[in-house]
Amino acid sequence: MCISTASFTDIGARRLQAYDLTVLSVIISAVFFTRRRSMELMSKKRVLVAGAGGFIGGHLVRRLKAEGFWVRGADIKRHEFGDTGADEFLLGDLTDVNNARATVDGVEEVYQLAADMGGAGYIFTGAHDSSVMHDSAMINLHILEEGRKAGVKKFFYSSSACMYPEYNQLDPDNPKCSEDSAYPAAPDSEYGWEKLFSERLYFAYHRNYKVDVRVARFHNIFGTLGTWRGGKEKAPAAMCRKIAEAPDGGEIEIWGDGKQTRSFLIVEECVEGIRRLMESDFTGPVNIGSEEMVTINKLAEMVMEIAGKKLKMKHIDGPLGVRGRNSDNKLIREKLGWEPHAPLHDGLAKTYAWISQQAEAAKLEPATK
Ligand code: NAD
Repeated sequence: MCISTASFTDIGARRLQAYDLTVLSVIISAVFFTRRRSMELMSKKRVLVAGAGGFIGGHLVRRLKAEGFWVRGADIKRHEFGDTGADEFLLGDLTDVNNARATVDGVEEVYQLAADMGGAGYIFTGAHDSSVMHDSAMINLHILEEGRKAGVKKFFYSSSACMYPEYNQLDPDNPKCSEDSAYPAAPDSEYGWEKLFSERLYFAYHRNYKVDVRVARFHNIFGTLGTWRGGKEKAPAAMCRKIAEAPDGGEIEIWGDGKQTRSFLIVEECVEGIRRLMESDFTGPVNIGSEEMVTINKLAEMVMEIAGKKLKMKHIDGPLGVRGRNSDNKLIREKLGWEPHAPLHDGLAKTYAWISQQAEAAKLEPATK
């Protein structure tokens, strides 16, 4: 009996020991896992993408996540086409200083892409001039000042080719958009004037507060997961939508005579340029755009060819912007040893496939939407 009792006690004690050891090892591995995880999180650079609910911002968040950054997104709206994978997303109006303060808290670097903007139908009618100037300027003022106070080390600012003077862009075949041609300033839109003001603001902070800045001037960025209807869409998206929606042999409307020229850059290359500039020691301003200049009529023909449709072009009055514009990539080649190189045709094919799919799906939406 005694023996058997002793055996039971022994077995119980051994079981208890084994149980204790298992619990202990679970606790130890949990502690190590949590420590490793928090060290991993601490070692990841923490960055903010302001405008993460938008077209380029959404693509940039995905790229930064793929590179291993801890990313906070901020925007007044969520991304229209799904989750971008940001570690944190703050929904709020960045013209409000309290929201701006919350977004820059604890981040090392800021990518500032939030702006009230859209295509020619939004920027060149004059109907949105006050909010384009007020909201975008307020966002930049708050993000910079609150970021500086919070100890942000580096800011990327997304300026635009719209800040170049109109007088250099009157000849559609020979527009001049080298970075040093910006002055005397004469942008043709309030959107361009705000970009010019904000560029100067970032450089003033760089000089006076020694914060690191990078400024890029984007030239007509296009691609998938961007606004393609509703009034804020830009030329390539609008063209893809019109052609996708038209029956073969039908007609599409084109603003102006279609002989105005532009260059268009696929968004993936824009994001590549942003990252390369951010990691370089060049502050900018520098153009991020394509040098493959086409007329708007040519753009329409390229999309028709991709779509396999023959359509008539009906030229109507509409907001146009400058007569000609092309990126000048001499400086980016020199400073970054890189420039965008993807052919326009490839980007259009990818974008048309996505927009025609969206347009097809939209036919099935309820009429009230
Ligand atoms: P977008 O409109 O898709 O993105 C801008 C984002 O800013 C939007 O999601 C919008 O909701 C957000 N925003 C606007 N007001 C806000 C507010 N008050 N608070 C918080 N968020 C606000 O535009 P995009 O094409 O992705 O452009 C990104 C940046 O690049 C902008 O600064 C734009 O001016 C600049 N840019 C774009 C192009 C282009 O061709 N797409 C060309 C030149 C410059």
